[in-house]
Amino acid sequence: MKAIDNRSGVPGTGGIWQRPDSLWEATAPPPPDLPVLKDSVEADLLVIGGGFTGLSAALHAAESGKRAVVLEASEIGRGASGRNNGQVIPTLTRPDPEDLVARFGPERGERFVALIRDSAETLFALIRRLGIDCAAEQTGWVQPVHSPGRIAIAERRAAQWGRRGAPVELLDRAAVSALLGTDAYHGGWMNRSGGHINPLALARGLAGKAVEAGASVFVNSPVLSVERRGDRWVARTPDGTVTAHALVLGTNGYAAAVFPEIRTEVVPVLSWQMATQPLDEAQRRSILPGRQAMSDTHGDLRFMRWTADHRLVSGGALLFPIDGADRLRRIVGLRLASMFPTLRGLRFDHVWNGRIAMTTDYTPRVHQLGPNAFTWAGCNGRGVALSVSLGRELACAALGRDPAELALPLTEPRPLPFNDLLQRIGPFKLLQYRWNDIQEI
Ligand SMILES: Cc1cc2nc3c(=O)[nH]c(=O)nc-3n(C[C@H](O)[C@H](O)[C@H](O)COP(=O)(O)OP(=O)(O)OC[C@H]3O[C@@H](n4cnc5c(N)ncnc54)[C@H](O)[C@@H]3O)c2cc1C
Repeated sequence: MKAIDNRSGVPGTGGIWQRPDSLWEATAPPPPDLPVLKDSVEADLLVIGGGFTGLSAALHAAESGKRAVVLEASEIGRGASGRNNGQVIPTLTRPDPEDLVARFGPERGERFVALIRDSAETLFALIRRLGIDCAAEQTGWVQPVHSPGRIAIAERRAAQWGRRGAPVELLDRAAVSALLGTDAYHGGWMNRSGGHINPLALARGLAGKAVEAGASVFVNSPVLSVERRGDRWVARTPDGTVTAHALVLGTNGYAAAVFPEIRTEVVPVLSWQMATQPLDEAQRRSILPGRQAMSDTHGDLRFMRWTADHRLVSGGALLFPIDGADRLRRIVGLRLASMFPTLRGLRFDHVWNGRIAMTTDYTPRVHQLGPNAFTWAGCNGRGVALSVSLGRELACAALGRDPAELALPLTEPRPLPFNDLLQRIGPFKLLQYRWNDIQEI
């Protein structure tokens, strides 16, 4: 793997790293007080990126007695980890267990499927064990089906996950309508191990717990270059260096130009999130009364979850970002009101967005970058639970465990030619999703 360059300016400042006007920024507990790297530091494990992947890698390494150092370009959770919807979902977006087994083989495929199956429970168990204050609610995740033709999707998913011991159930129309409080759907399925969290609170909590376990976490310390010197990785920031035996790259859809091959095999796509005003008790009793997280079968996804302060957090996608917040206020407001008439005239107090790292086949990529160096990218919108589990596995592999024993479906990087062009035309995929959404496919 080629070493690193940085052609796109100093990462971590401005642009995609700007502080979003998110509900999570307004409600998460403050971050731990973390320093900027101003020195030369030695470590067993160098982690690049202070999101769920990097923080989980550092936490697990530190808990096993290793010296872990995290370098974050901006603030903790400033990437996707602090901007997402907070749904804890133990599945991928499109590929089902049997797709993964067909692709990665019975052994590696099933091991990866088991990691995904357990990922929500793993995350909630970690939050409970460490006492992380992040409004965690393990109330389940439900996927309602928006057209009769897509009932087969729910049947297939419930059957494949059920055979593998996941706590899932198939839901008929009446059951979904009782769960959601709307007749808009034709059935669905749910996984009881899912739920939701305040994602920025989780990221900050993980950072604090990693430090307590002995890791060093540096913020506003963008990695400008990484190179292999002898048997070590050496990362340079504006004011310091870290030298380490092992490396985990956790930059995902917010990757600066470090490791260009990894950055260019995913296409970052903008996803908008929005939080309503706090809703009244009657609305809380009639809409998603069991407080599950919900994302449906539309390609132009409908999703929502309750928050601790009684808001619904939903959102959507747009072809063009111009006036995005105002347009989405109208679009999503009407959409929610058509499903739940009591939501007519809804106000959205916060609207923000973030970059989801997409791959062309909706399957995450996991790679070995070189000796003792691993990464993954391409969550396709399902990375809250997954990144915490994968972060742990990547740290184990980097620190010397045989990757063949781990749940890592390793492949060779395949950078996408014309990635910049794909980023520009990526949003137009929404037209295809919308067309498919009105077909029975
Ligand atoms: C709007 C949105 C909604 C989503 N909703 C959900 C959801 O509800 N459920 C779900 O399961 N998934 C969801 N996801 C996906 C999920 O948020 C991500 O998969 C997950 O947060 C990825 O975590 P990460 O640590 O791998 O990457 P990130 O959280 O993106 O972290 C990468 C970090 O690397 C840092 N970095 C980059 N370059 C450098 C450098 N050179 N030096 C140092 N640091 C660097 C960045 O600053 C950033 O903090 C959503 C994503 C978005 C954007």
